[in-house]
Amino acid sequence: MKKTLIVIDDDQQFANLLATAASTAGFEASVCNDAREYFQREQSYSIMVLDLNMPTMDGVEVIRRLGKGGHQVQLILVSGYDASVLHSAEKLAEEYHLNIVGSLSKPLQISLFIKMLSAINIIEYVKPSQRQDQQQAVTAAELSHAIKHQQLVLFYQPQINLQTNKLTGVEALVRWQHPVRGLIAPGEFIALAENVGMMDQLTASILKMAIEQINLWKKQGLNIAVSINVSAKNITSLSLPEQLTEQINNHGLDPGSITLEITESALMGELKTSLDILTRLRIKGFGLSIDDFGTGNSSLVLLHRIPFSELKIDMSFVKNMQRDKDACSIVETCVMLAHKLDMTVVAEGIENEAIQSSLKQLGCDIGQGFHIGRPVPAAELTAWL
Ligand code: C2E
Ligand code: MG
Ligand code: MG
Repeated sequence: MKKTLIVIDDDQQFANLLATAASTAGFEASVCNDAREYFQREQSYSIMVLDLNMPTMDGVEVIRRLGKGGHQVQLILVSGYDASVLHSAEKLAEEYHLNIVGSLSKPLQISLFIKMLSAINIIEYVKPSQRQDQQQAVTAAELSHAIKHQQLVLFYQPQINLQTNKLTGVEALVRWQHPVRGLIAPGEFIALAENVGMMDQLTASILKMAIEQINLWKKQGLNIAVSINVSAKNITSLSLPEQLTEQINNHGLDPGSITLEITESALMGELKTSLDILTRLRIKGFGLSIDDFGTGNSSLVLLHRIPFSELKIDMSFVKNMQRDKDACSIVETCVMLAHKLDMTVVAEGIENEAIQSSLKQLGCDIGQGFHIGRPVPAAELTAWL
């Protein structure tokens, strides 16, 4: 993979110095002295070194534009201000789900910069084209058409036992194979489905696809457990456990091969009904996972009341373990908490070897992330195995 890097800094001399250093570290490096120009380029880069203090478009504005435009790049922030400014810029970038791999204060030690670059695990991102930036949001009618005409597809991301590196299962992640727009990410249509009351229809079709896939794998001699994301909007029908059990029975599958992932923030309303449904799902043998743990409002109350079998630590903590002591302590505490409650603990968002090995050391059970494997179509996953 080609390693590309761009330095965005109005200080021409400083930017050139960093670019030269990056070239020494094996990067194809370029410089941009005005951030506005970056957004006009079509090229994407693996790493962006971004100065926070620039006269025309400052670093915070760049972060905002990257975040809102869905641009993905591994960011290194540079600032001449004190550490707290860097820290809040980092937090802002995290809010936009941007990937920060380091930060540097000016004056800067070049050797430190080179060392930082060589430790980064390069991830290949695709820069959204300007056309896509301006693309209109999808409509409910389009989504309904997509469900009916089988345009939704499931990708599967491997989950491994961190102690043995063996596959424990996969997470099914939905994508919309749009005939014109190409592959659309769930972030662009899940909320819409929830808002217009289409979630039951959507989840029913996802469950059907996942069950058929488990069955297909079974016929190939592969026993692969699948985790499926369900929305809180799905946990309102009291007959859900029976419906699901029936589907499973029709294929002669074991309910243990399915885990339902529920995000904690989504579960806040109507606790009585969800408690009823979720408890019966557990009784019937399905796995229940609390997804994105640590980001909702009253995680501990939910953990206490709902019989989850698995806790999935939110990716924002996992991704920052190396750089952020607090994030690391939160991960460690989640592992302990899950084990005290006899739950399996999963870390998602593992993007490099160092994080994977610290999680292993912390005793985390299962790992998932780009470093282990990206979400891929079923056929590719079978090949990967
Ligand atoms: P989630 O359930 O927390 O899924 C994890 C997301 O993180 C996935 O994004 C996955 O591609 C991404 N991911 C995995 N490993 C890494 C990593 O190492 N680094 C980074 N940066 N990202 C990683 P995706 O597929 O775009 O899904 C986003 C969210 O959309 C999911 O978050 C889930 O809440 C929702 N979603 C996806 N599929 C479904 C579905 O079938 N039904 C429902 N109700 N929601 C779904
Ligand atoms: Mg999930
Ligand atoms: Mg998650």
